[in-house]
Amino acid sequence: MALTQTNGTPHPVEEVENPFESMLSRFQEAAKILDIDEDTHKILVSPAKEVKVNLTVKMDNGRVQVFEGWRVIHSVYLGPSKGGIRYAPNVHLEEVKALAAWMSFKCAVVNVPFGGAKGGIKCNPREMSKGELERLTRAYTFALADIIGPDRDIPAPDVGTDPQIMAWIYDAYSRRMGFSSPAIVTGKPLVLGGSLGRVEATGRGVMVSALAAMGKLGMNPKESSAAVQGFGNVGSISAQLIAEKGVKVKAISDVSGAYWNDNGINIPEAMDYYKSNNLSLDGYKGAEKIGNEELLTAKVDLLVPAAIEDQITRHNADKIQARLIVEGANGPTSAGADTILNSKGIMVVPDILANAGGVTVSYFEWVQNRMGHFWSLDDVYKKEDQVMHDSFEKVYQTSQKYNCSLRIAAYIVAIDKIASTMKLRGVF
Ligand code: NAD
Repeated sequence: MALTQTNGTPHPVEEVENPFESMLSRFQEAAKILDIDEDTHKILVSPAKEVKVNLTVKMDNGRVQVFEGWRVIHSVYLGPSKGGIRYAPNVHLEEVKALAAWMSFKCAVVNVPFGGAKGGIKCNPREMSKGELERLTRAYTFALADIIGPDRDIPAPDVGTDPQIMAWIYDAYSRRMGFSSPAIVTGKPLVLGGSLGRVEATGRGVMVSALAAMGKLGMNPKESSAAVQGFGNVGSISAQLIAEKGVKVKAISDVSGAYWNDNGINIPEAMDYYKSNNLSLDGYKGAEKIGNEELLTAKVDLLVPAAIEDQITRHNADKIQARLIVEGANGPTSAGADTILNSKGIMVVPDILANAGGVTVSYFEWVQNRMGHFWSLDDVYKKEDQVMHDSFEKVYQTSQKYNCSLRIAAYIVAIDKIASTMKLRGVF
């Protein structure tokens, strides 16, 4: 995960649905199929906790700036809540609430014993110095020290945050508590107790899900092409790993624009360029520049949206030519687009399944921190691949059973698991 642009050029035809409402509409559809009772329904659509903090930070110019921040805990039925922290100029409560709910469902889909949470700070990390970012992160950690905890709520990186920020959270929390607590946060640098395989975990999960879906569709990876939107942690690693499986990645993009090469983009070369060019593809010469919209609707077999929310909407869903969409990002497809994609017969591996490799290896990191014993890279890969395969198959079988999309099937798997746990634990 890298500190990257989060205030990208707005999508030209973006239809911004309230992300929480968007999540709810899928939830309702799955809940109806499962026929869950009204009380369970009420509980699952209400986040357990929403905390707002105003963080005062001394800026480099000596002035104080106040930043708004949130932590939303959606549920803790399966275990302590888990979810990343997003640093972005446009992050808002409704977005954090949706992301927190998705974390609950995601953990349930991959059978990880965590509830769901998410955090956000309204800031532009690209315009802040390292010192300002450190003070902001420490202020956030101190403000939330009674909410987070290795047995309560465990943060992780998301858009705009990286292992260095996780290191500051670990340090600030440990100082506040008076003892070292590596399991307070995941996505840490390796030397601080991070897990091998965490950096590439989400992209790896995307690759495993893409191959599993291709298998169901009878697609041969070596004869398939792909377009990947977003070139940060998830996008670049997904592109690299699917290319290693023989898929021709013809288009990539980041906030600077999209890039097309009909012969396939040399992904390692593009990754080197991105890193050496201040985390930007701007000026990349290995491909022709095209528009973001062109990338989404390009003639490719596989589309991997791995940037931000609401990129595939009811305005462009009809133009999508890919047979398969694997959602690396959270919420890249609006609820309105789902119906169109389904009617076109496009298979969508939904975010709460496709990008769950990240939280799976975050869980492995937490387990290793608690054991004080670390696994080899090979062990992490094997365990992650197994989880992703099993979860894909479970969701696929559920979609066959209920004759519904993989997205609704994933929600069914998740809601069923959380609701039955809730029933056993009881409500008072
Ligand atoms: P990142 O900050 O590393 O990268 C984001 C990328 O998207 C950058 O290349 C940026 O330039 C690009 N981008 C931003 N706006 C864009 C736009 N309008 N058009 C095209 N590209 C744009 O973030 P990340 O960690 O790769 O996360 C990407 C998505 O994946 C987010 O939705 C995040 O919630 C989700 N996700 C991340 C992880 C993880 O482990 N990192 C896990 C699960 C889900």
